[in-house]
Amino acid sequence: MKNISRRNFITKSTATAAAATLGLSFIKGENRIDARFGKGKTFKGGIALSTWDAGVEANDAAMKTMKNGGKAVDMAEEGVKVIEADFRNLSVGLGGLPDREGNTTLDACIMDSIGRAGSVCFLEKIKHPVTVARMVMERTPHVMLVGEGAQKFALSQGMTLDEFKSEEAVKAYKEWLIKSEYKPIINIENHDTIGMVTMDTQGDLAGSCTTSGLAYKMRGRVGDSPIIGSGLYVDNAVGAATGTGLGETVLRSCSAFLIVELMRQGMHPQKACEEAVKRVRDINSFMKEEFQVGLLAVNKKGEIGAYALREGFTYALAKNGENKVYKSDFLIK
Ligand code: ASP
Repeated sequence: MKNISRRNFITKSTATAAAATLGLSFIKGENRIDARFGKGKTFKGGIALSTWDAGVEANDAAMKTMKNGGKAVDMAEEGVKVIEADFRNLSVGLGGLPDREGNTTLDACIMDSIGRAGSVCFLEKIKHPVTVARMVMERTPHVMLVGEGAQKFALSQGMTLDEFKSEEAVKAYKEWLIKSEYKPIINIENHDTIGMVTMDTQGDLAGSCTTSGLAYKMRGRVGDSPIIGSGLYVDNAVGAATGTGLGETVLRSCSAFLIVELMRQGMHPQKACEEAVKRVRDINSFMKEEFQVGLLAVNKKGEIGAYALREGFTYALAKNGENKVYKSDFLIK
């Protein structure tokens, strides 16, 4: 459905009913509806854009989901699930490196095209945190569940406990215990937290982000990845953004929300990502340690943005029948 016909569809007389159907009780009046659903040309070919090299596999799954009739939110969930299930990945899912007490704890979030959001943090022994995040979004009145409560909810929805421990992660943890030094290492792998933004054949947007967080973090630490507005933000009228990197620095900068707001003001996604990376650098200028942040964005026209603080960030883009890894440009040269 074209944007314009969508706007016509949601006329003044039906605005209240439409807002109620969408669960958007805060929408009042025609102008507000127009503002949210946007104007102008919308790309309709389908897009999956995700962080790091492994994003190619996630994009493949997302595009298959779309071809089978899935919406943007289905693409975002099914795409990152592939990476969550890949126990060789040391930064996502139950194969991820543990916290400093030896437990792998997972964070994930998802946003759909009608403004809904779901998130889980500090979740243990559940294979697909992104699916739990989606259940929080669709089956509860809440946005975020953490720890024991999130696990209890997952079990109540039919999920089962998974005791999987990656041999590689256990070995790495034992080696780490010798010195027990907490030092985040930038670009440690070419597969890392996966953040994904998607556009379906209707031109609707969604996104997801899932991670086991920083290796050897303090128990209970949560980074940017499951935080709506930091690790992920989607506004179907404007665009969607996600990222990866040292979560604390992204949390302080609300990067994903910032990118979407810059795009709302008319900025191209590339420029918006560049501005957001500069903001990350500026807000975190008190830090002595070197760190990495990589940000991605897509707008309603299907234009893409990618930018990192330092060299080494890669991303995967599936669009127009291609699905390839690209090297991101970066700020500190
Ligand atoms: N952003 C993630 C976190 O801080 C880590 C990463 O992207 O590698 O938990």
